[in-house]
Amino acid sequence: MGRSSFRQTGIVLKGLIFDIKRFAIHDGPGIRTTVFFKGCPLKCPWCHNPEGIDPSPEIIVSDDRCIACFDCVAVCPKGAIAEAGRTVTIDRANCDLCGECVRVCYAEALEIVGREIDSDELMGEIRKDRIFYEQSGGGATFSGGEPLMQFDFLAETLSMCRDEGIGTVLDTSGFVSSERMIGIAPLVDVFLFDVKHMDSSIHERYTGVPNGPILDNLELLAKRGALIVARFPLVPGFNDSAENIEETASFLASAGIEEVRILPYHKAWLAKYEKLGKGVRPYMADVPSKEDMSGVIAAFRGHGLKVAVGG
Ligand code: SF4
Ligand code: SF4
Repeated sequence: MGRSSFRQTGIVLKGLIFDIKRFAIHDGPGIRTTVFFKGCPLKCPWCHNPEGIDPSPEIIVSDDRCIACFDCVAVCPKGAIAEAGRTVTIDRANCDLCGECVRVCYAEALEIVGREIDSDELMGEIRKDRIFYEQSGGGATFSGGEPLMQFDFLAETLSMCRDEGIGTVLDTSGFVSSERMIGIAPLVDVFLFDVKHMDSSIHERYTGVPNGPILDNLELLAKRGALIVARFPLVPGFNDSAENIEETASFLASAGIEEVRILPYHKAWLAKYEKLGKGVRPYMADVPSKEDMSGVIAAFRGHGLKVAVGG
């Protein structure tokens, strides 16, 4: 069933999101509302939004906020929370996400990440800042996670934005079938398209998926005239070799991409992995130095690309 079919039959689609950020200024042109979809086919261990990887709601604990009152332990009907020193641990296999513990936690140390929202409600959120979009050339950005994992919901919401004259940006890993990428393209004003590594086996070892569909989709979109800003997460020890940067720059330039944004690895997000409590080991590296950044910027510029850092 296509997006228009859903609306014609009166079906209101639902999606799973984990955040809505208003007044975003790094997620595309102008002032934007960024919607974060939950679920991603990639498992990058340096992901800044690891709570966006799992396609289901999950409960997180902020140890630094916990005041050790243990009201949550008392209220949990499943006995899934236990004291652990000055904080708590959750047996996620037993937790059914009923939310009782969140309700009694006045310190706001507990949170269920991921909530269902229907396209009408989401459009209500997006419309709130319409005046700022109009003044700044902004609009709505769909990020994640990977928004294309919830294709029908994404297409429906993009279509509603289009109908209301609200600009659209799609922040994507590019890992989706070519049919879906082509299908979504007419509803997207600007793609923020991640390119992580040119060697497919290295790409798969770190992210869990090969790079073939990603590179093919980027070329496909570019050939069809889509406006694409490439994003290159610079991750020391993963993709910062001179050879890979040269290959990446060459690929982007030959595909007709004009602009690349470099996203340097940083560590501000490390605490999120602990809150998720899944035992996932985040990628650890030194942040790129100024000299490293200068070299990477020069390499991309050497292929005629316009380069910016961040966003
Ligand atoms: S209710 Fe909140 S503050 Fe109290 S022990 Fe549980 S998580 Fe900590
Ligand atoms: S969400 Fe419900 S089941 Fe899960 S830990 Fe909290 S109270 Fe227990």
